[in-house]
Amino acid sequence: NVISTNTPTAELQALDAAHHLHPFTHAAALNKKGARIITRAEGCWLTDSEGNRILDGMAGLWCVNVGYGRRELADAAHRQMMELPFYNTFFQTSHVPAIALSTKLAELAPGTLNHVFFAGSGSEANDTNLRMVRAYWMQKGQPERQWIISRWNGYHGSTVGAGSLGGMKPMHTQGVPTIPGIAHIDQPNWWSEGGDLSPEEFGLERARQLEAKILELGPENVAAFIAEPVQGAGGVIVAPDSYWPEIQRIVKKYGILLIADEVICGFGRTGNWFGSQTLGIQPDIMTIAKGLSSGYQPIGGSIVSDEVAEVIGSMEFNHGYTYSGHPVACAVALENLRILEEDGIVDRVREDTAPYLKTKFEALAEHPLVGEAKIVGMMGSIALTPDKASRAAFASEAGTVGLICRERCFANNLIMRHVYDRMILSPALVISKSEIDTLIDRAWQCLDETH
Ligand code: PLP
Repeated sequence: NVISTNTPTAELQALDAAHHLHPFTHAAALNKKGARIITRAEGCWLTDSEGNRILDGMAGLWCVNVGYGRRELADAAHRQMMELPFYNTFFQTSHVPAIALSTKLAELAPGTLNHVFFAGSGSEANDTNLRMVRAYWMQKGQPERQWIISRWNGYHGSTVGAGSLGGMKPMHTQGVPTIPGIAHIDQPNWWSEGGDLSPEEFGLERARQLEAKILELGPENVAAFIAEPVQGAGGVIVAPDSYWPEIQRIVKKYGILLIADEVICGFGRTGNWFGSQTLGIQPDIMTIAKGLSSGYQPIGGSIVSDEVAEVIGSMEFNHGYTYSGHPVACAVALENLRILEEDGIVDRVREDTAPYLKTKFEALAEHPLVGEAKIVGMMGSIALTPDKASRAAFASEAGTVGLICRERCFANNLIMRHVYDRMILSPALVISKSEIDTLIDRAWQCLDETH
């Protein structure tokens, strides 16, 4: 009784319900209706076990940047598995894939970000950052610099460390407390929280919360500020233009390390290699994962500046993962970067497909249900509202209307995600203009069907 893609859907769903616990899922509710089983994918299109073709507006989990079905990536994995499937980089050894990938990342990353510490995921990479920035300050003779400031509704991963750094309130419940030394400030979400302020005034006000928090904790006690250039899982929150220059001024003034979490924004998603370049941010550390391998292999990492690397390199850094610099993951990531570069995918996003998508996406704001429609490169969101003028939220249970809209997308073979009452879009970077047309048509239809 081999389980395969030929097994009937109902049977697969029953086995899934019986044995598979899904992340971030209410299992009992899912098991009542059964999971949709995805069996194949090509380009931007998924196929499910019933043979439906589904337009994936989320690139999996914001990660399949080069699209599905790239044979070169499978070949790179195969070659590497035959040559050297595993070796570690702990005990005075290295290997070619880790050397080649770190060299390539140093070339692509801006400024003096020239050194890579590998991890297996974005969460692990942020755990690395947590340990690294505290070790950095200890090594510099300022051990009291322990506090790391992040933002409510930011997302930095799901391990205990990364979940604590993150600002997803539900992840700070269920018995796992926030680890000590992490403080949060409010997010720059003008649509929901801007009140009577103009976006620019609000951006400044939210950025200055960082300064207030630093002063409250004592500047001599603060190690770092971490944020996503554009908040992703929190609902694709694009900060007003005034926000990042002010943040940059503040971290510089107090000598605090800036960590840009590029797990979603990196590798072309915003139209440049890194979101920091699009937003004009100069981080000391960048967290990477997802688009690094287009999700074909689990891999993440931290790219750090010359200065941070020098300090960390002047002691034994007591940290690492079995799969830090996994050769197969590195080989696949390297090939993925080659495709992004040689196929001109990042440039095409910036110059051609993202501007095309932006025009169509922003027009969704004309729909009666839609308030703001914001997009940077290939990541965007729309806010659903019962009253555009007052930027009201739906009075119903948080997220209900978003959930209905997501269900309508599901029924219309379009994957869009919802975060409360925001609908999120983050397609593969290889999406064509005609696929963008299809996507937007379906999104209109789903909005029309959302009551
Ligand atoms: N950081 C950001 C900005 C993310 O969006 C995510 C995942 O969505 C993570 C970190 C965590 O990455 P992973 O799920 O690979 O652990």
